[in-house]
Amino acid sequence: MIVCRSKAEIERLRHSGQAVRRLLEDLRQQVRPGITTWELETYLERQIKMLGARPAFKGYRNFPCCLCVSVNQEIIHGIPSSRRRLQAGDIVSLDTGVVLDGYYGDSAITVPVGEISEPLKRLLRVTQECLALGIEQAKAGNRVGDISAAVQEHAESNGYSVVREFVGHGVGRALHEEPQVPNYGRRGHGPRLKEGMVIAIEPMLNTGGADVRVLEDQWTAVTKDGGYSAHYEHMVAISSNGADVLTRLETEAPFESGIHPGLNLAYNQSSDAGPGRAWNSPRLER
Ligand code: MG
Ligand code: MG
Repeated sequence: MIVCRSKAEIERLRHSGQAVRRLLEDLRQQVRPGITTWELETYLERQIKMLGARPAFKGYRNFPCCLCVSVNQEIIHGIPSSRRRLQAGDIVSLDTGVVLDGYYGDSAITVPVGEISEPLKRLLRVTQECLALGIEQAKAGNRVGDISAAVQEHAESNGYSVVREFVGHGVGRALHEEPQVPNYGRRGHGPRLKEGMVIAIEPMLNTGGADVRVLEDQWTAVTKDGGYSAHYEHMVAISSNGADVLTRLETEAPFESGIHPGLNLAYNQSSDAGPGRAWNSPRLER
């Protein structure tokens, strides 16, 4: 069942969404060559506690940490480790969630470590553009497939593939609710979007093929062919005047590093605007 939230509930989800995004922006500042992904985890956990929030991921389906940290060919669900040290030239996906007053926030960004190559800069840029284009379609009357198709078309027309095994999702009183929001699909298909629905849109783009493999830790999803992967995620409420991006900070430019050419990014103000397998919900064709 797809839940439509009241205005009061959406404000609670905005509160959680803003909190999670501030945590991510803070964590971004910690990313540098030489830091371990475990140090990022312990920093984040401390910040979550200071907020009086509960980490949404730790313990979820037995995931051991607050942070999913996925480096280079890792797509999502990477587990923090004291043995994994970031190096200049890496890209790292930071994905986290919190619960405040029973309402979930969920967001992700991919961050360069030191100076990265031009092809990787382009991957990050196009993945953010896919998120923006998906968000543009997140309006009442459209269907989930309109979001999916916008993401897929922009990714593939730029020579990237989209991950199928993990998808975006509804979010509210639980981390993963209906509907699933795949990063591939057909316009005019899937559940219709209604005012009050809250969804996480989270494109995952690979430089090579779309195929995924899960490592022996049972969590870390990597590209089968070793290509790089990037991931961004915003939580969006469907409102009467378009997408209301609950995880976008007022201080945040629509696009990190001003890289956005030509697309219409006219989100409405305070507003404007997942994963899949077991969690980043499993894939499900509609
Ligand atoms: Mg997430
Ligand atoms: Mg998600």
